[in-house]
Amino acid sequence: MGKAIGIDLGTTYSVAAIVENNRVRILQNAEGGRLTPSVYAESADGHILVGAIAKSQASANPDRTVSSVKRRMGSDARIQVNGRGLSPQEISAHILRKIKADVHRQLGEAVTQAVITVPAYFSDAQRRATQEAAKMAGFEILRIISEPTAAALAYGLNRSDIQHILVWDLGGGTFDVSILEVGDGLFHVRAVNGDTCLGGDDWDARLVSHLKQQILQSHQLDIESDACVFQQVKEICERTKRELSHQDESRIFLPLAFGPHHDALEIEMTISRQVFEELTKDLLDMLIAPTRQALKDVSLTPADMDRIILVGGATRMPAVRHLAETLFQQPPDTHLNPDEVVAMGAAIQAGVLNGSVQDVILIDVTPLSLGIETQGGLFTRLIPRNTTIPVTAERIFTNAQDNQTVMDFNVLQGEREMAGDNIGLGSFQLTDIPELPRGKGRVEVMFEIDANGILQVSAQELHTGESAGIKIDASHLLSSDQIDRAVAEAAAHAETDTHRRSEIEASIQTNHLIQAAEALLFGMDRRLSKASRRQIHLAVSAAKTALSGGRLDTMTEATQSLRSALNGL
Ligand code: AMP
Repeated sequence: MGKAIGIDLGTTYSVAAIVENNRVRILQNAEGGRLTPSVYAESADGHILVGAIAKSQASANPDRTVSSVKRRMGSDARIQVNGRGLSPQEISAHILRKIKADVHRQLGEAVTQAVITVPAYFSDAQRRATQEAAKMAGFEILRIISEPTAAALAYGLNRSDIQHILVWDLGGGTFDVSILEVGDGLFHVRAVNGDTCLGGDDWDARLVSHLKQQILQSHQLDIESDACVFQQVKEICERTKRELSHQDESRIFLPLAFGPHHDALEIEMTISRQVFEELTKDLLDMLIAPTRQALKDVSLTPADMDRIILVGGATRMPAVRHLAETLFQQPPDTHLNPDEVVAMGAAIQAGVLNGSVQDVILIDVTPLSLGIETQGGLFTRLIPRNTTIPVTAERIFTNAQDNQTVMDFNVLQGEREMAGDNIGLGSFQLTDIPELPRGKGRVEVMFEIDANGILQVSAQELHTGESAGIKIDASHLLSSDQIDRAVAEAAAHAETDTHRRSEIEASIQTNHLIQAAEALLFGMDRRLSKASRRQIHLAVSAAKTALSGGRLDTMTEATQSLRSALNGL
């Protein structure tokens, strides 16, 4: 029996998966990534580029780059590239051809059978166009299934005790709501609604315009007047948005070369999740009306929904998860990776159709979160619990002290907020770090878990390339009892742990701000009038008192006053 794969042919990214030995596995592309950008491009001499390489050259070569072709599937558009008109199917076929070649490369054999997913609202013409694209790429299509159905399959929800499932899919550029009804183990899409012009990109745009205003105010520069700078700001905003999904604050550091003379300008600022959520509150509210409409169309209420599934990278935003929980009065299903869950379901369907899957499918996940100890003894997660493996995750860390030449990395697993309450897996040291002021160092920490559960952690200093690391076999370390205990303990201590974490984060932040303000006071900056000097001085004293008291509310208040004294300069 030949192999069959599942493909989520997405607007921004595409993902391929397979079921092997009753386990779902996401297939990596030739670049080592799990998500392949759905981007097609040609160089000036007609060379075809697909995926990450096409995406990376997009801003330099916009006329010969095509993104989001999925939006045009089923239309008779001709997309002009290098003076040739290409159909959306032809472009999609190039993307599928790359996926096919990458799968061949990874599995060591050619795979021709596939299940491909499409949005539930895709018309017949759009589905036929998808099928045509797949045929051009050399695939035999076992079935085209809808994306929410695939997600529900991945969650194993074709059970008799479940009647109604609601799926929210918030991707980069679109929002889809689907209501599925389960009957005889099969899914029927009962209602679809959504907003084709709402997605994670809109959240990015809010951050971009916030930064634009701030830079205009503080430096009298319009970031939009320089295309290169603007692109850089857009990228950093997308990264900041992602960071704010797991951190209360994100620091933006932007070294820019501005204008025709490439004048150097360094932008440094901190954005809190609270500010981000205030800037995007109306976008969040736009998820409600299509959801209510979909429910109304089938005469159902939120209380009729048995399960809520979140799909699409932008549903990682805590505000989206919180809104789902509030609307439906139940926590949504989020434990499968929202970028990969559709491809997983497609792979399961492919396995069922070609006869290789008869039994319950296992999805291998990390049983506990994995991360490192950071300043203040906090546990910083790099891979959250229940992430499907194999997986890689990386994060940039900085030096907590001035001129720090050594960094210790303590690798842990667990669900508690303090490193000391979690289980240590091993530690290593990165040495020969160049001497830099606090916060200026850049060390990239990478966690990599392979299909066998072997965890490799490495840290690389980005100025010198110096690196160090450790290999840990995490798969056999804990029994399921120990895992359950770790999760239960975390739940029991959730409130005190979160409070403790917030206190430590606030004290780190207060301390940083005091140091920055003192550097300004001692630096004899000419911009400082006597009055502002006095105001900052008072705010610093208040912040120091708050810091020694260690109380969250007073520290937050004192930091806010100090920040406004500094912002008022
Ligand atoms: P998709 O089209 O489903 O791949 O979704 C892509 C969108 O998800 C983009 O707007 C991403 O910026 C967004 N996204 C991915 N990861 C995160 C995250 N951790 N937090 C917030 N948004 C995210």
